[in-house]
Amino acid sequence: MDLVLKGGLVVTAERVEEADVAVKDGKIAAVGPDLPPEGAEVRDVTGRYLFPGVIDAHVHYWMAIGDLVTADDWFTGTRLAACGGVTTVIDYAEPASPAEPLTASLERRLKEAGEQACVDYGLHQVVLPGHEDDERELAAVVARGVPSFKVFTTYNQRLSLDAIGRLLEKARRLGALVTVHCEDHGIITARKEELIAAGKTDPAYHALSRPETAEVKAIRDVIALAGKAGASVYIVHVSTGGGAAAIAAARGEGRPVYGETCPHYLLLTAEKYAGPEGRLYLMCPPLRTAGDNEELWRHLAAGSLQVVATDHCSYTPRQKNAGTAFYNTPSGVPGTETLLPLLYSFGVRSGRLTLPQMVKVLATNPARLFGLYPRKGDLAPGSDADIVVFNPRKEVVLTAAHLHSAAGYTIFEGFPLQGYPEATYLRGRLIYEGGRFLGRAGDGCFIPGRR
Ligand SMILES: [Zn+2]
Repeated sequence: MDLVLKGGLVVTAERVEEADVAVKDGKIAAVGPDLPPEGAEVRDVTGRYLFPGVIDAHVHYWMAIGDLVTADDWFTGTRLAACGGVTTVIDYAEPASPAEPLTASLERRLKEAGEQACVDYGLHQVVLPGHEDDERELAAVVARGVPSFKVFTTYNQRLSLDAIGRLLEKARRLGALVTVHCEDHGIITARKEELIAAGKTDPAYHALSRPETAEVKAIRDVIALAGKAGASVYIVHVSTGGGAAAIAAARGEGRPVYGETCPHYLLLTAEKYAGPEGRLYLMCPPLRTAGDNEELWRHLAAGSLQVVATDHCSYTPRQKNAGTAFYNTPSGVPGTETLLPLLYSFGVRSGRLTLPQMVKVLATNPARLFGLYPRKGDLAPGSDADIVVFNPRKEVVLTAAHLHSAAGYTIFEGFPLQGYPEATYLRGRLIYEGGRFLGRAGDGCFIPGRR
């Protein structure tokens, strides 16, 4: 053995048990009571939880839109991940244009990540208009270990519903999962034009410009297309109770429809946009109401939403405040580092989720959906020794000064937490401990997904 964690409470998607965890050659060798140290390094974790390393299944590090580049690159993004107990992130390979082959964009992204990432990573492949008909390229992407596609129903890169339907059919044949950003382009465009005509362009109008109906309609449309194609489908960043209800209804009919939400949709409301720092909270889809927060928690606990990820897409206040209207302010917020502590304090401690449910939505479910299980997402013999040592008594008031994002701010400033990651192991190596990052750029590995 190389390492034995002694005296902790092991939490998996199935159970909480008092057990030691033994690590050898970067893998979990044994989980059980009173494991012999056999010359290994021993760490006393009495009174601590041991969680499988968290998977943030939706991040954007080093994302460039023209001259606008996110504050966090692959290095700072994966460094802050390590500091938050996140040992695997899933980012995106996005072609520069519909003319760029999918595999070219994928290799480019893999190269960037390989040089800089400090935690393990996978990718989703963004599919632009026209790519959906190139079955050879789609198959090559899946064969390379990227079994998920991402499409949009809005923005310039949007696919028509017909095109999404064709992609869903090919994905079914390839065993891939189509993930969709669902906001109805027509509704958003009409609402935006009305607001601009009325001179209402301040960030305070951001949520009105992208109403709940836009999300719910798009989710319903996409679920109907998946049904027609006989395909599974995954809705990213569900922000509304109505959207979650549409997913729950499809699942109630036994359909393979999955949904993801984010901490900001669980914990913040659109009132933030009216404040002096409204731009800092701007993301798409927008924050909603306290009622939506509660509905999303309820659907998460009921299992109708399967994943909490962050959509980490960070810009500095300077970049955000360069926007002059809701529609030209850079959209996105930092989030990976605070994912686990927020879900623990406001999910588990407040009684909305059990410990196994939290592990399910943060690690086991994303590992299963994106083909990383059982290598990732579990604390079981044979799995990678990605382990979070979590102190449930540590009290922390969240503040940007203690976080590691190059954005330099957090939308959860001042949130009182009880419980925080104390140490993070990546394949058996200590990469974070007590506020200090101990990992190295380039140590993260690409983990091919196989569904
Ligand atoms: Zn995103």
